[in-house]
Amino acid sequence: MNLHEYQGKEILSSFGVRIQRGIVAQNAQEAVAAAKQLTAETGTGWHVIKAQIHAGGRGKGGGVKLAKNLQEVEEIAGQIIGMNLITPQTSAEGKKVHQVLVAEDVYYPGDSETSEFYISVLLNRSTGRNMIMYSTEGGMDIETVAEETPHLIFTEEIDPAVGIMPFQARRVAFNLGLSGTAFKEMTKFVTSLYTAYVKSDASLFEINPVLKTSDDKIMAVDAKVTIDDNALYRHKDYTDLRDLREENPIEVEAKEVGLNYVDLDGNVGCMVNGAGLAMATMDLIKQAGGEPANFLDVGGTADAARVEAAFKIILKDPAVKAILINIFGGIVRCDRVAQGVIDAYKNMGDINVPIIVRLQGTNADIAKELIDNSGLDVLSATEFQEAADKVQQVLA
Ligand code: GDP
Ligand code: MN
Repeated sequence: MNLHEYQGKEILSSFGVRIQRGIVAQNAQEAVAAAKQLTAETGTGWHVIKAQIHAGGRGKGGGVKLAKNLQEVEEIAGQIIGMNLITPQTSAEGKKVHQVLVAEDVYYPGDSETSEFYISVLLNRSTGRNMIMYSTEGGMDIETVAEETPHLIFTEEIDPAVGIMPFQARRVAFNLGLSGTAFKEMTKFVTSLYTAYVKSDASLFEINPVLKTSDDKIMAVDAKVTIDDNALYRHKDYTDLRDLREENPIEVEAKEVGLNYVDLDGNVGCMVNGAGLAMATMDLIKQAGGEPANFLDVGGTADAARVEAAFKIILKDPAVKAILINIFGGIVRCDRVAQGVIDAYKNMGDINVPIIVRLQGTNADIAKELIDNSGLDVLSATEFQEAADKVQQVLA
């Protein structure tokens, strides 16, 4: 589950990680009220207005702006809310902004220069351990840093049995070139950040930038937080944080009807039972020269109602030019699936893309006969390769 910046910051703060403070607002009036409250609480005179969407690079797209008075807060918030924000991380159409975070300005002048760092916490899959990845090049696109100046990216791997050790937190602060108060602040920041990562069952924390203020405080100015869906049952208070407006609408709908669906870029819709067979089917489609439009596992009960629900979900994607149904009848009998496909097809009425059905297993022969005699525009196959050839045929 991906979170908005303001939600990620709330989680960080709940574990004692220092953050740039802010209040979320749904419209320009709320933004002004939020700015007044922040001034009362923090003494800040300036405010940053930040678009809340599930994508980074907002600053580059005009989604992060500094407001120097309440009138500017109102103007900027009014302009950002409702805009279609296009950033290097969104699609070409961009993402609609529904809310902004009004945050205190933390780049105020003072005794020393401000500096921006990059710190993330994530799982190193090759060692099976969590690691802290960090760089002096904060505020920049980390992929560019990795490409052009890889020696400026450091990692610190954490032993799960003992957690983050004080010497490790000190090494991070040292490599970031800090000393004095800022050094001590950074060791506290890194330690609490790592603890927050583990305790919240996150799969990614990316804080870019982490800011050293002009008075040597270390804080999270941005927060990209992803919580592991498989651990959400342990965090009932996090489930409300899901913002369905930010997720793929077809995937959300599929989840509601209990289908395991992942939207992809191709043109061949897939309806398959079992995740393994679904993966193999996607490979098959690629081999036949097509590109899968989705991953869809209908699960064990491929009856007419479920097949119909699956058809509806697959056909929501306008890119779909053909549908391959690939069902193995082990527990479920192929003839029942075939009947389900025929019933669903008749019910839907307006399926205008070719359908290839491959049914294999119990009663496969009866199933093929049912499909062939149905009078519907459905091609049947029993062998995997045969199905692939037919996909190629209809796409040609
Ligand atoms: P992103 O562009 O989506 O990564 O959004 P960020 O939250 O990282 O903000 C983008 C940039 O806005 C940061 O790198 C900062 O340079 C700038 N910024 C954020 N907060 C403040 C602030 O309080 N004052 C000023 N002057 N700039 C800020
Ligand atoms: Mn950022």
